[in-house]
Amino acid sequence: MRGNEKVLIVGGGIAGLAAATGLCRLGIRPTIVERTREFGAVGAGIVLSVNAMAMLRMLGLGDAALEAGRILENSELTNAKGQRLFGMNFADLAPDFGPTITIHRATLHKVLLSGCQDAKLHANLWVDHLHDLGESVEATFSDGRTKHFDHVIGADGLRSQTREQIFGRTDTLYSGYTCWRFVVESPPGLDRMQEMWGRGRRLGLVPLAGGRLYCYATANAKAGVADPDEGRIERFKKLFRAFSGFAPAILEQLTRPEQLIHNDLEEMPKHPWYKGRVLLIGDAAHATTPNMGQGAAMALEDAGILCKMLEGDASFEKVIPAFAVRRESRVRFIVDQSRRFGRLGQLENSLLRSFRNGVMRMMPQRLTSAGAVRAAAAEI
Ligand SMILES: Cc1cc2nc3c(=O)[nH]c(=O)nc-3n(C[C@H](O)[C@H](O)[C@H](O)COP(=O)(O)OP(=O)(O)OC[C@H]3O[C@@H](n4cnc5c(N)ncnc54)[C@H](O)[C@@H]3O)c2cc1C
Repeated sequence: MRGNEKVLIVGGGIAGLAAATGLCRLGIRPTIVERTREFGAVGAGIVLSVNAMAMLRMLGLGDAALEAGRILENSELTNAKGQRLFGMNFADLAPDFGPTITIHRATLHKVLLSGCQDAKLHANLWVDHLHDLGESVEATFSDGRTKHFDHVIGADGLRSQTREQIFGRTDTLYSGYTCWRFVVESPPGLDRMQEMWGRGRRLGLVPLAGGRLYCYATANAKAGVADPDEGRIERFKKLFRAFSGFAPAILEQLTRPEQLIHNDLEEMPKHPWYKGRVLLIGDAAHATTPNMGQGAAMALEDAGILCKMLEGDASFEKVIPAFAVRRESRVRFIVDQSRRFGRLGQLENSLLRSFRNGVMRMMPQRLTSAGAVRAAAAEI
């Protein structure tokens, strides 16, 4: 019976592919449309925390992710000189909560795609018009075809067209800081994740498998400031020249503007997640700033929990409202915490920064590690 249910997933990112994997395991063969030419991801890395990994295990992809990624044992926050402010030991917590891993986004996509081979995948296609007719949803695609679906899952990210088609335009909230991401060779001796906090700027270093290093960098800026190719590398190096420790060995590997992926960091204000037969998941519903490293984890939780709630003969009609109620406070907690943590990290005032750093140095490692992992693990 479930094989007859027609589900459209808009967006083949982390949320869309994970939801497709879960639905395939229930015997539903969803249609997925992805706007870009191929199902893939931009060239950067990602940290998959304990809850993200638990969801991948639930979707039958835990071993594949573990094999393709790199186990992250330690993480530390430092000042711009690389001096430790506090640390988190993930290895000690793994027996209770499971591993945390780092992985290249393109590799994660391959893992997720391997789970949804029974889905009907269409790249280079999007939905031009979506009409909820009550009994079904009519979708008109960019190639001119029109089809009817029982349910639509909008997993098309921060600037979701599905959200706009169903609810109208919603403005996103700019965080106040912009971000660059890149992957280089890992410098010798860097065996843990580091996030370095400077004056209104942060540099994150995340070791990946195969001796590669994923880096992210943030700087306070007005919204929408352009970063043209010409002079991009020089401007970036100037912004982070006060950073020492491993930073100089990383910055010297940047030579070409296309090495840097640049975008402003934004979040979604509180917003309904569903209307009639259309449900939003992942960033389309609740994009967060990345300061907690939990956006993809929330997308995976959405997919894993939605499919868990649909087990047996549970209907979408009953599950969708219950799913939204179950997920709302959990996701809001993460979005709010992430915004607060980002503001702390982006402080510019010297007095406030030294007070913040002093407090962080005094925080017991065991407490911060366990607290952060328990917060992440709450849905496991
Ligand atoms: C700098 C940075 C670092 C991050 N680090 C982490 C981290 O370490 N850990 C973590 O858990 N999270 C992290 N995140 C958050 C994470 O990247 C996102 O939360 C996650 O990618 C959301 O997945 P998604 O599938 O909902 O959306 P997206 O990843 O945005 O995917 C949406 C997909 O839909 C497609 N699409 C868009 N519009 C349409 C359309 N109209 N029709 C069809 N397809 C469409 C897009 O091409 C894309 O493939 C980070 C985010 C940023 C910005």
